[in-house]
Amino acid sequence: MARENILVTGGAGYIGSHVARDLYGKGFNPVVLDNLSTGCRDNVLYGDFVLGNINDGPLVARTIREYNIRGVIHFAASIVVEESVSRPLEYYENNSLNAFRLVKTCIENDIREFVFSSTAAVYGIPEKVPVPETAPMIPINPYGKSKVVTEMLLQDVSVAYPGFHYIALRYFNVAGADGEARLGQNYRKPTHLMTLALRTALGDYPELKIFGRDYPTPDGTAVRDYIHIDDLSAAHLLALGYLKNEKKSRVFNCGYGVGRSVAEVVAAAREVTGVDFRAVPCDRRPGDAPELVADSRLIRTELGWIPRFNDLHYIIETAWKWEKKLKEERKVRK
Ligand code: UDP
Repeated sequence: MARENILVTGGAGYIGSHVARDLYGKGFNPVVLDNLSTGCRDNVLYGDFVLGNINDGPLVARTIREYNIRGVIHFAASIVVEESVSRPLEYYENNSLNAFRLVKTCIENDIREFVFSSTAAVYGIPEKVPVPETAPMIPINPYGKSKVVTEMLLQDVSVAYPGFHYIALRYFNVAGADGEARLGQNYRKPTHLMTLALRTALGDYPELKIFGRDYPTPDGTAVRDYIHIDDLSAAHLLALGYLKNEKKSRVFNCGYGVGRSVAEVVAAAREVTGVDFRAVPCDRRPGDAPELVADSRLIRTELGWIPRFNDLHYIIETAWKWEKKLKEERKVRK
């Protein structure tokens, strides 16, 4: 039987490439659309690749028709909170305006299943932690706001076009890498805690900065819900199945419901790497919430999502394997 084609925007990036890998593994053909602004062609392990922008209506329409696309998983976005504070125009353009153009092209071309990468940043500083999906969206940075805009658009569109259904997955802190270290995070300017901790352990940086020691948390450092990339990827496959079978629009948190502080992550990274790297307390980073932990009951009951890698050490081990491989590759290239 021919494989069904799924359009994966941003499929050459960190999360998209893992999902494309899993789509292929489950019998789909991922058609990756990526402009390679931050993604990398080598990350597309399976399926087809189209170089281009999500706001290029004619290209997206042609791709949908040529591949007879069944559903769309939309990752392509800008994702650095701090950068969004200094470059809001870029974030609204990429994450809201271009997403609008993509959704419009999808509607015009009769796409009925749409999975959207949203974020826990839509909650801002939640009143209640773990935060449920019903919590109000009061984002505190342009990144979160730009994603809220797209969630609202999708909601309105799903009401106006009853054949169109979407699932927004609100990611908490995605981390780790492919178990065989074929894929992982590879941003030119890394900003994420785990990557920076491991690169400090590798000697790329003299020290890791700990942003904020005065948060209202047990050890004063910020708390996040770290989820392994493979568990997150699995949620996308379940979301596609749900859209096909249930034909309903939904919003789900993607996290384990377990909070880990920056200090805990640093301690675990030191254990996994065996390197007692330097970590220095610094001021808070603009736009950061003190504590973000998912109430993840809904995705478990509604999608049947069962996390397999809820283990901070395992998450760090996979990322460590990947970081060491990247470093070797960089050396060879020099
Ligand atoms: N963080 C830190 N030092 C770093 C990078 C991040 O202390 O070099 C903190 C950051 O302030 C936040 C947490 O680690 O509280 C997770 O940040 P990350 O950028 O990994 O993800 P975010 O939660 O911002 O999406």
